[in-house]
Amino acid sequence: MTHPVILAHGGAGAPNEDSDGPQSACVTGMKFLTDGQLDAALRAVIEAAVVLENDVRFNAGTGANCRLDGSIQMDAILATSDGRIGCVAAIERVRNPIRVARLVMDSPHVMLCGPGATQFAHHRGVPDDTPITDKAKKRLADALERLKTGQLRPTERKWQGRDMHGTIGAVARAADGSFAVSCSTGGTSMMLPGRVGDSPIYGAGTMCGEHGAVCATGDGEEIIRRLCSMRVYLRLAEGMEPQQACEIEVANFPEPYTLGLIAVSRTGHGMAATANKMARGMLENRS
Ligand code: ASP
Repeated sequence: MTHPVILAHGGAGAPNEDSDGPQSACVTGMKFLTDGQLDAALRAVIEAAVVLENDVRFNAGTGANCRLDGSIQMDAILATSDGRIGCVAAIERVRNPIRVARLVMDSPHVMLCGPGATQFAHHRGVPDDTPITDKAKKRLADALERLKTGQLRPTERKWQGRDMHGTIGAVARAADGSFAVSCSTGGTSMMLPGRVGDSPIYGAGTMCGEHGAVCATGDGEEIIRRLCSMRVYLRLAEGMEPQQACEIEVANFPEPYTLGLIAVSRTGHGMAATANKMARGMLENRS
């Protein structure tokens, strides 16, 4: 037996002052980690993610960014150390994509995307609901303005055309030594409809196995190219402490792109982010 621990983040680049959000997600997650019921780590990361998806400050669920066409399409994933994975990509018209990822986990598939994912969710009783906020509309208007005027941020030059990302995620270790990870995002601010980032891609945005759980946030296309979560996980498998494993990955990430990571292993936990900027939380129960 080990002691339960949960970490959560509100996105690379999300102000550290907003860390009360991820911290309260950890408090909620910890209740599930310690309630003595089955699947503690999985239930903990789901409920932690729901807290953050429902917090308009973070770019997931209710706070999700709009695509350039004004639509809201979201990505989310859940994975456990016993090999269960459920993900949705570019899903629309649901408030909590992470709950749909849980339903996919129990289906014959690993990932559902686009209208198929939305249809699946509604058939399974998930309410039809578009979580669009005034903040998301304003971010879209600002992004369109930057495109029009050519005043793009360094990471947006490919659009000459893209930033303003954000994601939420949680990793947990239960008392029985099992791990789970959740990740949910509204993507970046300049995105075509249909774009899928790193978050729902196992090995890129998340990774979970017998050695631990890892969750990434930041510039999705770069995270996919480098399979960041897999690389951190492989360091955990070699026995490196999660803090060091995360720091190495962040230090090697190419400028001007942004990366944030949270990780937990059998022996420890860690988090790191570009310029140390990422709303974050952590809770351990040693009793
Ligand atoms: N990684 C997310 C994406 O590219 C965004 C983020 O984490 O900030 O969709």
